[in-house]
Amino acid sequence: MTPPPARSVDVVVVGAGLAGLTVADELARAGRDVLVLEGRDRVGGRVRPTTVAGVPVDAGATWIAPDHTAVHDLVKRLGGTIVPQFHEGKGLISFGGRRRVESATALAPWVLLDLNRVMGVLQKMVDELPVAEPWNHPRAAEYDQMSFGEWLTAKRALKNTRKFMTMVCLVHWGAPPSDLSLLNVMRYIRTLGGLEHMLAVEGGDQQDRVLGTTNILVSGLAESLGSRVVVSSPVERIETADDRVTVHSGNARIDTRYVVVTAAPAHRSTIEFSPALPAPHYGMSRSWRFGALSKAFVAYDRSFWRDAGLSGESVSDDRTVFLTFDVSPGPDGPGILMVFCDARGFDGLGEAERRRRVVRHLVHLYGERARQHIDYTDFAWGNDDFAPGGPNPAVGTGGWTSFGRFLREPVGRVHWAGSETADATSGTMNGAILSGQRAAAEVAARLDGER
Ligand SMILES: Cc1cc2nc3c(=O)[nH]c(=O)nc-3n(C[C@H](O)[C@H](O)[C@H](O)COP(=O)(O)OP(=O)(O)OC[C@H]3O[C@@H](n4cnc5c(N)ncnc54)[C@H](O)[C@@H]3O)c2cc1C
Repeated sequence: MTPPPARSVDVVVVGAGLAGLTVADELARAGRDVLVLEGRDRVGGRVRPTTVAGVPVDAGATWIAPDHTAVHDLVKRLGGTIVPQFHEGKGLISFGGRRRVESATALAPWVLLDLNRVMGVLQKMVDELPVAEPWNHPRAAEYDQMSFGEWLTAKRALKNTRKFMTMVCLVHWGAPPSDLSLLNVMRYIRTLGGLEHMLAVEGGDQQDRVLGTTNILVSGLAESLGSRVVVSSPVERIETADDRVTVHSGNARIDTRYVVVTAAPAHRSTIEFSPALPAPHYGMSRSWRFGALSKAFVAYDRSFWRDAGLSGESVSDDRTVFLTFDVSPGPDGPGILMVFCDARGFDGLGEAERRRRVVRHLVHLYGERARQHIDYTDFAWGNDDFAPGGPNPAVGTGGWTSFGRFLREPVGRVHWAGSETADATSGTMNGAILSGQRAAAEVAARLDGER
């Protein structure tokens, strides 16, 4: 699977995630000659299927919100089906080793008051943020110099409020509040439509899934692009001379007019650019490092927790497991719990130990019955050997005010896409598609202008 040694196309796209495949799909449908080069041996990037007990599940992106219209449109076009995330029954909370069933009194009233207070203050700050240019907010420098953890301390957030916020950070950035710029947290919440929307199942970001897996989105696009997508072809060098660009991958040289790079900011600098990119691009690659999140799936003969009126949803401050959801294929098949694990206490362990720790915590949550699992699988994004990490860049302090404006501004004939570059639904599959559509339109306009 290597690109032909010498070839000439209108546009080369680097990366076959949802953003790259969208760029190529848009341009190919407009009659442009396009080639996608993907470094991994598969398409999809942060969309990745796996199986447990023979059932396909999402090791990467899973959920779709009602306002993720670009994903809805694509699922429809590809003949897929969207199904609701199971959300019936009560959730569990386990803080400090104490398991409680969700109820009005599961958390002390002062904890709920504090959580609402902190979320309210944060949301008010978020509402005032100019999403496309957060660095232009009058207090941008102050917000960007402070970590989210420092802000929680300054707001005197109670211990359990911090625990909730840590869970939010781990699942969205694969990093704790102390690693994240406050401005980054604010900007991300803004693009997702607010904290409540971000946390909700019904009407929110966790409302729906794709029947089977989200892989249908990338496999469908890749199939229609056919031989225009080449995997196992990492782009090593991009050379611009006058009005032509040469893209190097292994022994192949592709001559092109424009390049769209969809690798996440942290991975852009693994490509050698000639001439070199303006210096801030390298600073961005360093400070927009990826966090890491891990997912495990534990399968049972049936979803036994539903008998006890439990939804399979839980929030924990355990060092391994911090969130669970029920992703069983239906009421009659096997029961499957999707388990989010804190990569810091997980990725370095062997498979047997990872499994032991996950199952141990599920027994704590759901009782001895949880020990009798029929299958287990997991995926540690931080351990991936090409373009590792996810779900999103854990942008540290100073990252937005120093480098944000370089995120998607073209450099000569090189354009940028990727979920991070979207102003709406950034960090999601929807954001990836929107960014691909935007970059395709930019390049198409330039190609049209050259006619
Ligand atoms: C565990 C996890 C859970 C998630 N959950 C959700 C969810 O529930 N809902 C949701 O909407 N989103 C979720 N996301 C986020 C979502 O997956 C991403 O926002 C989206 O898929 C990003 O697409 P992309 O095309 O921008 O980037 P990517 O998918 O990262 O694609 C970039 C591609 O570029 C390739 N590449 C990098 N460097 C090179 C190079 N030099 N040469 C060639 N190729 C290169 C990479 O291999 C990769 O395939 C989740 C992500 C993870 C990891």
